[in-house]
Amino acid sequence: MALIGTKAYKNYIGGEWVDAAAGSTFESVNPANGEIIGVFPKSGPEDVDRAVEAAKAAYEEWRLVPAPKRGEMLFHFAHLLTEHKDELADLMSHEMGKVVAEAGGDVQEAIDMSYYMAGEGRRLFGQTTPSELRDKFNMSVRMPIGVVGVITPWNFPIAIPSWKIAPALVCGNTVVFKPATDTPALGERFVELLAEAGVPPGVVNVVHGGGGEVGDRIVRHPDVPVVTITGSRETGVRVLKTAADHLKHVHLELGGKNAVIVMDDADLDLAVEGILWSAFGTSGQRCTAASRVIVHEAVYDPLQAKLVEAAERMRLGPGWEEDTDVGPLIYRSALEKVHSYTGIGKEEGAKLLTGGEIADGNGLGNGFFYRPTIFGDVEPGMRIAQEEIFGPTTALIPVRSFEEAVQAANGVKYGLSSSIFTRDVNRAFKAMRDLDTGITYINAGTIGAEVHLPFGGTKDTGNGHREAGQAALDVFTEWKSIYVDYSGKLQKAQID
Ligand code: NAD
Repeated sequence: MALIGTKAYKNYIGGEWVDAAAGSTFESVNPANGEIIGVFPKSGPEDVDRAVEAAKAAYEEWRLVPAPKRGEMLFHFAHLLTEHKDELADLMSHEMGKVVAEAGGDVQEAIDMSYYMAGEGRRLFGQTTPSELRDKFNMSVRMPIGVVGVITPWNFPIAIPSWKIAPALVCGNTVVFKPATDTPALGERFVELLAEAGVPPGVVNVVHGGGGEVGDRIVRHPDVPVVTITGSRETGVRVLKTAADHLKHVHLELGGKNAVIVMDDADLDLAVEGILWSAFGTSGQRCTAASRVIVHEAVYDPLQAKLVEAAERMRLGPGWEEDTDVGPLIYRSALEKVHSYTGIGKEEGAKLLTGGEIADGNGLGNGFFYRPTIFGDVEPGMRIAQEEIFGPTTALIPVRSFEEAVQAANGVKYGLSSSIFTRDVNRAFKAMRDLDTGITYINAGTIGAEVHLPFGGTKDTGNGHREAGQAALDVFTEWKSIYVDYSGKLQKAQID
């Protein structure tokens, strides 16, 4: 664990490790025990400006590096991530709190994404089409855009930067990256490994600091034509409004209020496993977390009993301990927010079946631990069934039919992920068609996306863009249509 301590970290600008211009710092804290992970530059607008300048200068050369060569650097990066997977997972379990096996999955996602985008270096397909005129050739190609502002949350501190930075780079853009202030050490390791993989100075820059100072300046900077951000709905709205003045490309990945549907013909034991993993994995701090379970009344009682029993068996503890099932929440105010929703649920008349309290025995009091919490008899319109809680709390909603289940699942403002447990193939296909989310799982929980399919959501989960798969390339490129006339005479489209 060489990386943990009071090491003073720096920004990475133009290939140099530098302090914030103002010399201020902030600390990253272990959410399981309050220990300090490291000290980081608390940057401001002037640091962003320097990073953008470096990225803008590097862009002129980087855009001309052949895409397969850019891809090869990502290939090396994927190798390095693989080599350092255990170290990164361990650091993540300390800095972010994730259970170490899940932290390994977070790193693996970045490895997969980097390999996938390395391959894009040899594709980046455009189109060729026949011309309506003789001796004329038509094609479209993807063009890089320039400096991309990358702003990430703390809940997937290695995976999410890879979802954004790998496609941005392979398309020929350069990057100014602001990691979340709760996981800056991981953001810095990510960039160190990119540099080690051969990505030239200035192509990726990291500026640590808060959303209001660093993030906002990135979004406002006139030389940053593309902004990609994952965060809360409120932040997304603010960013979109700010970026509108400059007509930037903005890619938003925002909140979720995801539902698992359990039908009367479901394999209940499988459903319980899927629900536990989706509701309490990463302590419920996933954009795809299942914070609602919509259950057919015929299986409501047995499902509830199995679920509560299994949740009560889950062991809370630091993420790095092998037998931990549920780690801490990210910080104290998250703990308070989650606990306030327990109060709201009770006031609304939902039945608290288990949990609903801060866990502080056995040394947990030094961290931010909350017991896995299940509410029963929840109505679809209650606040606990509508608002993103972002903690280990889920709401059981009884329904009488498939149609009612779909209506309840769709009756929220978000549209990220959904799932249905059923053995009826007709219902499964209807669910695939009718659930208004960007991702639907059949007989699995709401989490488990793979990197080669688009990732993102409908409605308030985003603004129509997608990460992962080839869809990820769209926000980082402009299409150019090219017409080559080899007839040797002026041919007039639509006239000759
Ligand atoms: P957040 O919105 O508080 O912060 C996200 C990032 O935006 C941070 O780096 C923050 O510093 C920055 N930021 C904040 N205000 C800003 C501003 N005005 N201008 C520019 N940047 C600003 O979110 P969080 O608490 O870090 O993450 C949790 C949220 O992220 C949840 O709502 C969750 O659902 C969402 N999320 C979504 C996805 C997805 O793919 N849809 C994935 C993970 C997390």
